[in-house]
Amino acid sequence: MPHVAFVPLTGLRVGEAEMLSFGMSLPGLRERGQALGELPALGLLTLAGMLGEEWSCSYHPSASTSTLVADIVATSPDVVAVSALTASVDEAYQLCDALRLSAIPTAIGGLHATVLPSEAAKHADAVCVGDGEAVWPEILADILSNTLKPRYQASKPFDLSQSPIPRFDLLPPKTVPRWTIQTQRGCPWACEFCGASRLLGPARFKPPEHIDRELGALRRFDKTPWIELADDNTLAGRDDSMELLRAIEKHSVRYFTESDWRIGENPELVRALARSGCVQALVGIESLAFQYAGMGRKDAQLTRIMQAIDVIQDHGIVVNGCFIVGADGETNESLDRLATFISDSRLAEVQITVQTPFPGTSLYRRLQKQGRLLDRSWSYYNLFDVVYEPNILTVQELELGLRRILSEVFSATENRKRKRLRYQIWRSHPGWMYNAK
Ligand code: SF4
Repeated sequence: MPHVAFVPLTGLRVGEAEMLSFGMSLPGLRERGQALGELPALGLLTLAGMLGEEWSCSYHPSASTSTLVADIVATSPDVVAVSALTASVDEAYQLCDALRLSAIPTAIGGLHATVLPSEAAKHADAVCVGDGEAVWPEILADILSNTLKPRYQASKPFDLSQSPIPRFDLLPPKTVPRWTIQTQRGCPWACEFCGASRLLGPARFKPPEHIDRELGALRRFDKTPWIELADDNTLAGRDDSMELLRAIEKHSVRYFTESDWRIGENPELVRALARSGCVQALVGIESLAFQYAGMGRKDAQLTRIMQAIDVIQDHGIVVNGCFIVGADGETNESLDRLATFISDSRLAEVQITVQTPFPGTSLYRRLQKQGRLLDRSWSYYNLFDVVYEPNILTVQELELGLRRILSEVFSATENRKRKRLRYQIWRSHPGWMYNAK
């Protein structure tokens, strides 16, 4: 029986040792990084769901890297399917190189490989450009006929209504802190720094009945699952949001999502979101110092954004306010202003990262054109290292400034304050008794 080994090299690569050398303790950040690293790789589980009965497969989470190659070789795979982010792509290339020594073919996909297929082709035997689902059947057929090609390009974006049910059964039972499902892909906005929103095509949506089926399948493995929606911007541009939320509500799940602050200006939608089990929403506020191109109506006044966030939190949904530092115009004063703004705000959770020009984004092209990209390996593209010349601060000033405000925003006092706030917010959630269990 032919066999596929699936290897996700995803998750956040926080340079924590180096950060700790600044005398910092970042519990919130560490937990978030760990949670992301442990999330199931939905893309690969979905490809596994497309395998016919003639195929067997195995799933190798990247946590087991010390024995990863030996574990994979032991399965005698006909192909190894690898997905990686920019920060982890060098690890993925090393893995492909190691497997090549054992004459095991590899296929790599994901946003980075989609943008830089020629680079990926130096290491992997096949590169998947675009949505993996669109070319996976052809790759499988070519493996069987021993005619694997160096590049597979999706001719059009994959229709999400045709998505198979992900193979949740490949995950070891009771080891999944949060499951992932995806309700949409892409985003109607086009923020300059964002790679996820456009590189695989326009915004597309899974029909509510499809989500109903996926949740039904997931609940066969976990009766009360915690879920993180692997969406780019849940509900944005969707005209059947209420139907989607009703479909989720039927399953009594609790979930985290990433959405647009403007949902807070539609109380009926926020009520439905809370009823459907949403307990936390990541909302991009981005920068107090800079207005990114392509943000659409994110250029609204900050007070309007914060009022919308209040409405979301008043309905029992904790908002994780996400900020990016280091945009053009950033100074030491603007960094200090941000730390004060966050401390004075009612944000119950916060995420701060440094502006990162991922390849394929407008931001990358702009900084490259301006000659401002530093000569740093992809492993630095981890959201915490600076990989470009800021326009006012020096690189070192920005790195030190980031660490300074992280130490303030994630101090023990600030963390305790936000923890209390989260508790208060969740007490007003319609599923509070359920969540408290
Ligand atoms: S709103 Fe979010 S998902 Fe959409 S383009 Fe901007 S950063 Fe990307």
